[in-house]
Amino acid sequence: MSDTEPRDFIRQIIHEDLESGKHQQIVTRFPPEPNGYLHIGHVMSICLNFGVAAETGGRTYLRFDDTNPGKESEEYVEAIERDVRWLGFDWEDRLTHASDYFEPLYDAAVSLVKMGSAYVDSLSADEIREYRGTLTEPGKNSPYRDRPVEENLDLLERMRAGEFPDGEMLLRAKIDMSSPNMNLRDPALYRIRHISHQHTGDAWSIYPMYDFAHTMSDAFEEITHSLCTLEFEDHRPLYNWFLDQLKPAHRPRQIEFSRLNLAFAITSKRKLNALVEENIVAGWNDPRMPTIAGMRRRGYPAAALREFVKRGGVTKKDKLIEMGVLENCVRENLGDESERRMAVLRPLKVVLTNYPEDEVEMMEAMNHPGRPELGTRQLPFSRELWIEQDDFMEEAPRKFFRLKPEGEVRLRFGYIIRCDDVIKNDAGEVIELRCTYDPDTRSGTGTSDRKVKGTIHWVSCAHAVDANVRLYDRLFTVANPNSADDFHAVLNADSLKTVVAKMEPSLAALAPGQPVQFERLGYFCTDSEEHTEQAPVINRIVTLRDSWAKLEKQAMQQQG
Ligand code: ATP
Ligand code: MG
Repeated sequence: MSDTEPRDFIRQIIHEDLESGKHQQIVTRFPPEPNGYLHIGHVMSICLNFGVAAETGGRTYLRFDDTNPGKESEEYVEAIERDVRWLGFDWEDRLTHASDYFEPLYDAAVSLVKMGSAYVDSLSADEIREYRGTLTEPGKNSPYRDRPVEENLDLLERMRAGEFPDGEMLLRAKIDMSSPNMNLRDPALYRIRHISHQHTGDAWSIYPMYDFAHTMSDAFEEITHSLCTLEFEDHRPLYNWFLDQLKPAHRPRQIEFSRLNLAFAITSKRKLNALVEENIVAGWNDPRMPTIAGMRRRGYPAAALREFVKRGGVTKKDKLIEMGVLENCVRENLGDESERRMAVLRPLKVVLTNYPEDEVEMMEAMNHPGRPELGTRQLPFSRELWIEQDDFMEEAPRKFFRLKPEGEVRLRFGYIIRCDDVIKNDAGEVIELRCTYDPDTRSGTGTSDRKVKGTIHWVSCAHAVDANVRLYDRLFTVANPNSADDFHAVLNADSLKTVVAKMEPSLAALAPGQPVQFERLGYFCTDSEEHTEQAPVINRIVTLRDSWAKLEKQAMQQQG
């Protein structure tokens, strides 16, 4: 173990359990239900479960909680495996399913029946609800609660054999119908469901309930620390009741931590599924989605996601983390790695009237200002150039140091130019600038020591490569869309803008998945689904600066 202080309360507990010899090795599990894609909240759980084990020489299971056939699918199973692996974690040979344990789980249920701790109930679903009581009123015992053990065993066997239709009976734990904790009011253990299971086919017509299956799977896998989110705190007495009754050879310990919530994003699989089903986004891996698949396609590096959850920490307090924190992790990660390139997102034509018609000069451009070892490239410069529309202003304020009528600006790696004429269309929109360049000011080799305040980027018209560039923004307009009555009402209508950008020629060969910085604009990469060399499709990963910072802080403060 490292000699630094454990960085959160769970690592503290684990540290103590190893020091005291309670455990020789830490065993954890990440137990997703394959009913959707993993999201940023799951990243936290994955990093925690795999992290604490890896840090202490322990091991981790990837266990599919597949007790809900019908809602679960192989597509989700495959996506989850791909995402966990991409995040950088390895379960080796420890890929399991709750359904792997259906047989021993059934045996455990039989044991509970035999010891008089479980019974088959024949009340209808409505009656069960009625008998359960409320938070302020105790429940009532079912009239079937005292069925003799033999009868319970017989009925359970016949439930398994498929003799009864869905909903006719239920196996329940016999605990306490007047417990203030609703989870202890004779919770269901098995329900009848005549439905095929993606893993066990038609072998079963009864399926175990989550709490029972989860607790016993933890015991079977000899999980030492069963880490889950805070909403399971009230389930811990039930978790422990199963262990007290069944006394498995290994006793796991449940510890709860608070969920990670990301501002301006939704982290409920049900709602994420609705976004997909209603075609509000283009699938689970739409780059605006807070899913791992979406963030990967967007171009977020796995290391940035790991860093993000590390900064968020592990606590018992609910937290809503600003999107800006995540984006900063992405920027920091990309800043060092990404080579610089030039591209113009909203092109405006500049004609250099004193530059020879057919001449092309090659300008040397650094690939990374902080890393000379990444070398240089040649940028063609010619009479007609594209610059960014908003790098020109006709009526510019005094502090506007880019291009304005009769103003001067430096073209990065090029010359100083001066704007002589502004050409407009019939609608009065600026469509072209007539400029002159100063031949003595060539970047690096020019003889003039003239300086101007602003430097802008550009691309030679004749050499430019067109690309569809997708500019992403927050999917929602409020900091906590999770708590909105209807998330449709708080969708950001401008979360995706597509522009036809002009890119420098070297970008025609941009390698798939390779992030680059477009100078002054942000970090970009090819879209993994739609990009081809013939028809480039480029995603903006993140802008260079956080334009939302102020707004986001305000919104977060208002929401407490
Ligand atoms: P649902 O959205 O359907 O309620 P879930 O988010 O709980 O489901 P699971 O597949 O059951 O999804 O989650 C797998 C594991 O990830 C669980 O241990 C769960 O506690 C954890 N987890 C889920 N969401 C978060 C979150 N926002 N922050 C931290 N951990 C999470
Ligand atoms: Mg869950």
